[in-house]
Amino acid sequence: MSVRNQIPAGILSLDLKDELSGFRNRFYIPQNTIYMDGNSLGLLSVDSEESLLRVLDEWKKLAIKGWTEGKRPWFWFAEEIGTMASKLVGADPGEVIMSGSTTVNIHALISSFFTPEGERNKILADELNFPSDLYALKGQLMLKGFDPDKHLVLAKAGEKGLLDEKSIIELMTDETALVFLPSVLYHTGQLLDIKMLTEEAAKRGILTGFDCSHSAGAIPHRFNEWGVDFALWCSYKYLNGGPGSTAFFYVNKKHFGKEPFLAGWFGCNKEKQFDMLNEFIPSPDAGRWQISSPAILSSAPVEGALKITLEAGIDRIRKKSVQLTTLLAKMINERIIPHYQGFRLITPTDPSKRGGHIAIEHPDAAMITEALKARGVIPDLRPPSIIRIAPVALYNSFSEVWKVVDILAEIMKNNEYVKFRGQRRTVT
Ligand SMILES: *Cc1c(COP(=O)(O)O)cnc(C)c1O
Repeated sequence: MSVRNQIPAGILSLDLKDELSGFRNRFYIPQNTIYMDGNSLGLLSVDSEESLLRVLDEWKKLAIKGWTEGKRPWFWFAEEIGTMASKLVGADPGEVIMSGSTTVNIHALISSFFTPEGERNKILADELNFPSDLYALKGQLMLKGFDPDKHLVLAKAGEKGLLDEKSIIELMTDETALVFLPSVLYHTGQLLDIKMLTEEAAKRGILTGFDCSHSAGAIPHRFNEWGVDFALWCSYKYLNGGPGSTAFFYVNKKHFGKEPFLAGWFGCNKEKQFDMLNEFIPSPDAGRWQISSPAILSSAPVEGALKITLEAGIDRIRKKSVQLTTLLAKMINERIIPHYQGFRLITPTDPSKRGGHIAIEHPDAAMITEALKARGVIPDLRPPSIIRIAPVALYNSFSEVWKVVDILAEIMKNNEYVKFRGQRRTVT
């Protein structure tokens, strides 16, 4: 990256005061890069590398015995790492399991939690959710014989592209069986009020589930206190578990008796699993929603990643994350928006309504993203017009935030982005 201007003393002093600054050294930061894409793929840490290499070594030396004799026996890996993760989301052991992948977990859980009865046969979601979530919801409706055009109710975004909790609540009717929403909206970065939505749904006899892929590891949750019925999230974004790493789900203990309709042998009561009975005797807790043999090699790095997150503390992570995004938003408001046409800050200005990233909109977002990359800054593009910038508390600094905006200002001032016209990549 090329930084031509001097970082102001006030910014440097924020880095000096940063309690979490020491964690950066435990991550592999790509060379000459300001990495602001942790909301898509978090970075590798030495801790994750260590837990992954340990498991590889166990495979090498213990082979089949790794299931029971690994340092963390593979047979209980999903439950044990789930227990570690339960501390991040305000859940009890047994309520959180590491398993499968986000979209598969959506299917597995919705198959149990969407139980239409009479007129109560609709799912309430939102039009801004990650497409995979909507595909899964539609599929689940069709499986139960419902037309998604009529039975999937989508809350609409307001003029500014944001959702409004009150309008979502107005859509909760006697026909709603289930509400399924994201905690943080993946492009705008808006954080929904999980507590309020859950309580309002419960008052109306509606179950609530959340996709927390964009908040897990960035924001503390209190699922039990709020009475959330179920939740799920991936581990490769703010949790830094690695590309396609094993995901998580949470089921509130009051639902442990529900039937897991996408049943598989890893959902068995572990005492009975190897009896190989034809009758399915499910695990007494959330473990019953597991399906297959856990992907141990994709789960191993998550152990190290969670160790770091727990050590840093999710409350401290959130505190620094808010400071980073507040600085970023302030600088964009001061140094970009008044000077260069076409920019708009989409993410809510109130930090309590914001996840871990800031989204800005510009008609030439694709070219601007390429120009940033050419200068060593990695944001990401959500076509056609959104640039997401995620300063991550565990490994980004205040100076980096300052540099990103400084570089963006130069790119705009010198029209550096126009030379990237007509380029489009498949993965951004
Ligand atoms: C990242 C993300 C996904 C990804 O789903 P996979 O099944 O892991 O590919 C799904 N939904 C949301 C809301 C996400 O943020």
